[in-house]
Amino acid sequence: MASTKPLTPGDPLSADHKNSCDTTTAAVVPSRREWTWQDVGLPYYSCGFFLRRRFGRCVQKVSIDAGFTCPNVDGTVTTGGCTFCDNRSFSPSRRLPRAGIIGQIDQSISRMRLRYRNCHDFLAYFQPATNTYAPVERLRTVYEEALAHPQVVGLVIGTRPDCVPNDVLDLLEEFARRMPPPHVAESLRDSEAAVSEKPLYVAVEYGMQTIHNRSLDWMNRGHHHDAMLDAVERSRGRGFEIGAHVILGLPGESHDDMMATARELGRLSIDAVKIHNLYCVKNTLLADQVARGEVRLMERAEYVRTVVDFIEHLPPTMIVDRISGDAPPDYFIGPTWCLDKPAVKTAVLDEFARRGTSQGNRYLSKTF
Ligand code: SF4
Repeated sequence: MASTKPLTPGDPLSADHKNSCDTTTAAVVPSRREWTWQDVGLPYYSCGFFLRRRFGRCVQKVSIDAGFTCPNVDGTVTTGGCTFCDNRSFSPSRRLPRAGIIGQIDQSISRMRLRYRNCHDFLAYFQPATNTYAPVERLRTVYEEALAHPQVVGLVIGTRPDCVPNDVLDLLEEFARRMPPPHVAESLRDSEAAVSEKPLYVAVEYGMQTIHNRSLDWMNRGHHHDAMLDAVERSRGRGFEIGAHVILGLPGESHDDMMATARELGRLSIDAVKIHNLYCVKNTLLADQVARGEVRLMERAEYVRTVVDFIEHLPPTMIVDRISGDAPPDYFIGPTWCLDKPAVKTAVLDEFARRGTSQGNRYLSKTF
């Protein structure tokens, strides 16, 4: 039933966003659990908002390095990896000794404690390398290990679209159809989201990057866009969230090219997208190309305009998981403005406010 409680600026659902809505004139609003990102005055469907609504309270991701390599590095697809990726760090001989899965989660939670004092629940994010690139039984072991951590309430798995054979998708579906382990229901007992009634949260993030094959060739990606189409088709209806990584500002891509990628995301009707500009870290082919002046990296103002255009082209139902990217400063080359993520976010919010637009504005006009 609809609640008459007005939404208030600074409500937890919008606490991490600058533009809370002015709801003083709202007579009737949906019940709190049904609030949309529009109801709380956001210009796009942020991942923070989605997670708060899905879990009923703050949930953050903790990155895990499970020791996987990548078929684009070990010669299975090609060697050398993507031009922007420091894939030498995936070599067993260069790998620093890491804590086990549980140890890494504990370390990350300790590091995040200061920033997210009131956050007690986390998603295990298998992030570096290709996290489905192993026999199914090994994958099962590492995912189960993460889920056994008492503060882990779900899984996020980053991978390549050409690296999800059907037996791996079957495994991911099996996890996504399970009810959460008892510690999840216990941990989120007081949340408003009735988490214990929902299956385990599992998200798969595919490295799509762009729909343009010439750009995928430029970055030595080792697959074309048809791999993404195939992975998405085989992933549909399996209970897990389907996401895509996209890079803006790839050499040779025009503004129209980037908007074509946005429209394709809408056509694919996936659940989530992570967007960032092309940025450069040490020990990569891209670093050499930038140093030689062969590749230009976007300036902040240009990126802000482009990412707002991009989000306007997305369907309003698509979660926008990230709008910028960075890397540890000692490892980072440029553009340096990426290192100030709050400033990038503020600039994006300001641009939406200046235009008076929001996610989906141009998606609707393109579609209907
Ligand atoms: S597919 Fe991912 S892990 Fe592999 S080389 Fe490219 S960016 Fe690195």
